[in-house]
Amino acid sequence: MSLPPSSLLARLRQTVLPILMGPPVLAFLPALTLGAFWLWGEAALVFTSLGLPLFFALSGAFNERTRRTLAQRDGVTGLLLRDGFDAALEHTFEETERPGLRSACFMLELDDYRDLEERHGQAAADQVAAQTGERICAALRGTDTVARIGDSRFAICLTPVRQLDLELCIQLAGRMQSAVEDPVALDASTIYMSCSVGLCLRGRAPGPDAASWIGAASAALSEAQANGPSGIRVYSAETGRKSRARHDLRDGVAAALENGQIQPWYQPQISTDTGKITGFEALARWTHPVHGMLPTDQFLPALEEAGLMKRLGEVILYNALTALKAWDSAGAEVPQVGVNFSTDELRDPGLVDHIRWELDRFDLTPDRLAVEILESVMSTDPDDTIARNISGLAKLGCRIDLDDFGTGHASLASIQRFDVSRIKIDRSFVMKADRDPEQQKLIGAILTMAERLELETLAEGVETVGEHALLAQLGCDHVQGFGIGRPMPFDRTLDWIATHRAKLQDAPRIGGKIG
Ligand code: C2E
Ligand code: CA
Ligand code: CA
Repeated sequence: MSLPPSSLLARLRQTVLPILMGPPVLAFLPALTLGAFWLWGEAALVFTSLGLPLFFALSGAFNERTRRTLAQRDGVTGLLLRDGFDAALEHTFEETERPGLRSACFMLELDDYRDLEERHGQAAADQVAAQTGERICAALRGTDTVARIGDSRFAICLTPVRQLDLELCIQLAGRMQSAVEDPVALDASTIYMSCSVGLCLRGRAPGPDAASWIGAASAALSEAQANGPSGIRVYSAETGRKSRARHDLRDGVAAALENGQIQPWYQPQISTDTGKITGFEALARWTHPVHGMLPTDQFLPALEEAGLMKRLGEVILYNALTALKAWDSAGAEVPQVGVNFSTDELRDPGLVDHIRWELDRFDLTPDRLAVEILESVMSTDPDDTIARNISGLAKLGCRIDLDDFGTGHASLASIQRFDVSRIKIDRSFVMKADRDPEQQKLIGAILTMAERLELETLAEGVETVGEHALLAQLGCDHVQGFGIGRPMPFDRTLDWIATHRAKLQDAPRIGGKIG
């Protein structure tokens, strides 16, 4: 896709004009004065060497506003970049120190921009960014400052005025948002983008400088995104507190991952037929020095935000394979360990090689590792790398577990295409299944489908003996849940295994398949 002629012209204007009209031309001063001297004599020499700098000074070329228009601009949208915006914001911050003048700083970000790049390519993403810039500008007055400060992020600072309150700012945010969210026509298709907006009124800036003001607008944007898509949030003292807590958590979680505070705990899986252990699932836990054991919902989002999911995967895999070796040495007969794989890890082109290398180094065969992949990942037409990785892992001989089955929309075709070995029926189907005929019908249908496709089945979140017995009767192959065993640190697994084995010898078998 080529750039439209209007943006080519605009780009030319942005690069050439500042050189011809601005102070950079003073670099040619020696050449100009010499030329004037040769042609018209000494008077021309004096006139040019003094006149030209004077002309620029008088025409305002050195003042703040002109410097702003001459600041570096983004090649795609023609908008200011971060440096230019910071300078403008600082200027407005000082101007609004005077009583009676008000302003606001907005931060707007397109949701799912990375996805757009991946699906439609860079040229299309550029076009959407250019349109977004134009639409934001059209929703504002010509004197307001708009900048593109990240691929998908725009910053706006309003020219100081006397009349501006929260209500007006929220209306303005809504106006920009709906302008940006209008469909974008791209070649033959139409793209629907959403965006989130955070804003901070000048009077609410939490610190004594412009940096605190833009920081507050960013924090409001993060809050809008956390409640998004398509959210709008205003900065308040509470936003500041939450944002600081999030930053602390993000720093803390990164350190915890490196110093071994984040480790897998292991939850047993057993056969409904024999009662024997068929595996353990590795689940991340943070043993916090002050708060004790923290479950995943308190730190996985922070790891995700910090871009550390791949690192988490490495830590969990290494520990899970170490555990498998230790169970082998202890004669514990644990056939496999299940590890959860995030989308970030599945996007890594080196994933299959990394896993092959890890299995080799631990001298374990690939069938000892069950790769757990969320159904939602398989149902959204995964990109090429993800598809290649899943097939590659299946070909390597790893087992593929389809996690949270029933909550996404994986097609039967994708289940076969990716060589899924087992489906993990989501806890929402299992809950109270022994007392709810509707649940039983759903589980029955899933099990029939799995049998036809020759897939193994595991029911997640089995909490009661009743649920366990029903699942066994319906023909589900494996069960996992608090009713069998809660996730536990490695140190406790050997005791658990011994107790479980002892129980198996004493107790009669639970359930038994019907038909
Ligand atoms: P999941 O893979 O579906 O894991 C099962 C979750 O259900 C675990 O929560 C487990 O503690 C919980 N659970 C197991 N049995 C029962 C039960 O009988 N009743 C109830 N109410 N809950 C039960 P957890 O450990 O908090 O993990 C939540 C999710 O976080 C996991 O869901 C998984 O998607 C993700 N996760 C956990 N560890 C990792 C990891 O190492 N890497 C990645 N990428 N994701 C992980
Ligand atoms: Ca799982
Ligand atoms: Ca699950």
